[in-house]
Amino acid sequence: MALYADLHRHLGGSVVPRILWRYFKRHDVEMAQRFPEYPGFEEFYTRERKTLDEYLELHTLVEKVQTEDTLPYFIYRLIRGAYIFENLAYLELRYTPYLRTPDHLSQSERIDLMANIVAIVGQATQVKEYPIIISQILCMHSRLPYEVNKAIVDLAASMGHYVCAIDVAGGDSHYAERLEEFVGLYQYAHSLGLKTTGHLYETPHGCYRELLPYLQRIGHGIQIPLKYPELLPEIARLNQCLEVCPTTYLKTGTLQNLHQLKVVFDRCFEAGVDIAICTDNAGLHNVRLPFEYENLLTQDVIDFDQLQACQDAAFRHAFAWPYQQPPASLLTGLLQDNSTTLSQVMA
Ligand SMILES: [Zn+2]
Repeated sequence: MALYADLHRHLGGSVVPRILWRYFKRHDVEMAQRFPEYPGFEEFYTRERKTLDEYLELHTLVEKVQTEDTLPYFIYRLIRGAYIFENLAYLELRYTPYLRTPDHLSQSERIDLMANIVAIVGQATQVKEYPIIISQILCMHSRLPYEVNKAIVDLAASMGHYVCAIDVAGGDSHYAERLEEFVGLYQYAHSLGLKTTGHLYETPHGCYRELLPYLQRIGHGIQIPLKYPELLPEIARLNQCLEVCPTTYLKTGTLQNLHQLKVVFDRCFEAGVDIAICTDNAGLHNVRLPFEYENLLTQDVIDFDQLQACQDAAFRHAFAWPYQQPPASLLTGLLQDNSTTLSQVMA
């Protein structure tokens, strides 16, 4: 039985359009009037955007409604869907906690409230009827000031029971002018013993070699095999894993078709670089993890063996998976023992 791990999913992009539309219908008069029928909303919410920045604008729509009070509502539905439709055994959920605090408060008040948000998300992800192992990644943000990003790193370190790592997000073209600052923040995170990933080499405008040595996993990283394949041997040596999120590149205009990913997978396999296939924004795209897998197969980007290698890599590189093996090997013995017993009974 195949159970999956998703290492790269944003809390903001994890709300499927129908859940969000129903929420607006009940709680947001303006949005309810703008989209009286569901198909119009789905079209607006899931359509392709021209650039990564335009695409990231959509996150603000969801961040605005994911507050202290509503987070448990959205998270419950996210976990239910992930368990029932995606066969997830493990999920790392990422977001910027500062952006879930009320924006009329001062910066220091908002920083103080972040721990509360992490606790709310942490408690909401423990759903007894849908047992998935879930951990949080806290995202620093390229448009937030240094003090806030440092507070996010401190918070990640102090809430290790809920948080497994830090990330940097918010559009990779915006790191350029603050590169040293982010290098410093990652060095600081390492000094606190934190695990690290970061949105990097996602678009041609986000290729900063200076940040690479600080990342255990690379959020996207597809520009490395596409444009800088000479870096791959070093990535392999450092055992850094690429978090590849196929649908994203179509929605942000980074790639024109999925087949362009073939060279990404081929070069990584050849160089011995691991890839975990992830959803990024499964709700916003309306594409769940098994469909990401299936699309890569049907478009001949990868074959079944390569898919399985990526699925195993996801568990190997998971920051908070507590076992040595992926769940399939834990379950197979159990299921085979039972089916042998059953066939003996039937005989
Ligand atoms: Zn992302």
